[in-house]
Amino acid sequence: MKKSITFCFLLVAATLLNPVQAKENEQQIKPVKNIILMISDGTSLASVSLARWLQWYEHPDRPKLFLDPYLCGTVRTFSSNAPIGDSAPTTSCYMTGYPSRTGYVATYPLSDPRNDIFPTDPKRAYQPMATLLEAGKMSMGKSSGLVFTCEFPHATPADCSAHSYKRGKYAWIAPQMVHNDLDVVIGGGAGLLNAEEEAYLKNRGYSLYKDDLPGMRADKNKRMWALYAERDMDYDLDRDTTQQPSLAEMTRTALSKLSQNPEGFFLMVEGSKVDWAAHANDPVGIAREFQAFDRACGAALDFARKNGETAVIITADHGNSGISIGVARCTGYDKLSKDQLFYQLSQFKLTAAGFAKMLNSRPASEVQDIFRQYAGFELTAEELKALYNCKGYKNSPIPMAERSDAGVEKSLYSSGELSDFMTKLITSKTCIGFTTHGHTGEDVFLSVYNPNGQRPTGMNDNVELNAYMCALFGINRDSLDLLTKTHFARHADVFKDYKYEILPAAGKGGFPSLLVKGKKKQLLIRPYTNLVELKSGKKQPDTIHLNSVVVYVDANNTFYLPTGLAGLLD
Ligand SMILES: [Zn+2]
Repeated sequence: MKKSITFCFLLVAATLLNPVQAKENEQQIKPVKNIILMISDGTSLASVSLARWLQWYEHPDRPKLFLDPYLCGTVRTFSSNAPIGDSAPTTSCYMTGYPSRTGYVATYPLSDPRNDIFPTDPKRAYQPMATLLEAGKMSMGKSSGLVFTCEFPHATPADCSAHSYKRGKYAWIAPQMVHNDLDVVIGGGAGLLNAEEEAYLKNRGYSLYKDDLPGMRADKNKRMWALYAERDMDYDLDRDTTQQPSLAEMTRTALSKLSQNPEGFFLMVEGSKVDWAAHANDPVGIAREFQAFDRACGAALDFARKNGETAVIITADHGNSGISIGVARCTGYDKLSKDQLFYQLSQFKLTAAGFAKMLNSRPASEVQDIFRQYAGFELTAEELKALYNCKGYKNSPIPMAERSDAGVEKSLYSSGELSDFMTKLITSKTCIGFTTHGHTGEDVFLSVYNPNGQRPTGMNDNVELNAYMCALFGINRDSLDLLTKTHFARHADVFKDYKYEILPAAGKGGFPSLLVKGKKKQLLIRPYTNLVELKSGKKQPDTIHLNSVVVYVDANNTFYLPTGLAGLLD
């Protein structure tokens, strides 16, 4: 039988709690026990305004969003070598204090001297960088949690709890998130846990729920993973409320568990799919998804105001879609009434994606019923023609080979997905404009609640927002750097006095491992987990349980791991 040993690096804990001289503007910040970071992914200010207008239009007694009273400034958010950010490097920067490149998850960027916005150190390229969540968990005894609606290894939750220079490499990211010993994880991606990962969670005493809302609701365990849907959860507007929880409920559930730790917690909550609706240019999806995010902000703020030791930071990671309220194709749009601007938008009971799913699941004979019921109007002959000719419409009476754009209104024709036709149709009924299906480079909003009243005002950049959050935990970026140095050191440096070799991956889809030989003992280190095997003599190997994950980077054939591991071989 394998023995499990818990291995802690107490030296680092002691150092971290002694913050190095803080920058002047952080000096006065009084630490709090808990941080809740709320990220609305890919959210331009016009998306916030649209969600707010729509709420006020439908609820005259609710002119403001939950986050409104705490709006205090803006954030300039960017990648290390480009002003327009990507979700991987942008939340990475909030979490680590370093901007990074497109696709990089909490990983130091490869230098790009001509374009780097701040100078970067070429020697540190690809190094995993300790995150604020990891600092709280590893060095301060705090609990940690992630709540989101995308699949769990997606960029923003990964940014807090994993390290990879390729955001799409879920095979590298998912095991790190599982093995990073987070306390509460609630979101999408039930189809992405493998058998080893499930076994690890169960052995570590977690409750694990997959598409089990009643199970999650009844759970009393402090540590829990609750995942819904194969990958991303449904948009809030489309979701079956008996199957999937709201972001607000997931937030409240996470808080009820995390707040049991007397040392405090770090929780990141992401409104993941505001970004997805913006990529799709679906104004209904953007507005409703942001409203759902704002309700989660309400839940977090409620908790914080009662708790008295919790700060809530609410922001976005970058803009998306160039959305505008008012668009040139609507002549005289700046004189439109609120009914003209928002009535039709308020009638859509499904997002473009939800509408497409509905249309593809019902016969063509029901099309007008569906539109009457879920959008408050019937399609015109012209619109119906565009629908029937959309290649993504499964139930179209027009055979696939005969569908074309001939005679179809240009602004409604879609040769692709049915949801694409739906975004065009929805947009044609509104005076909302878009300039792109991608990210944009304008500053994003910032709302902060701090029980001690100290808030970052004016324009803050992403590095400064990290500094503010570090200060709330009584540390600074130097403390994160120290944690990086001691837990993500290069294997060639850590084991320079030992013999070691990198063993190739055993099979397809496997990873290389690192074998290190001391005089009497040897270590076998597999990447992306927190487990290493220590073998002495002929005895069965002991499994050593680290409080951080080991990361292997193929680009430089390097394992990044704790410096303390060398001591195990003596
Ligand atoms: Zn995006």
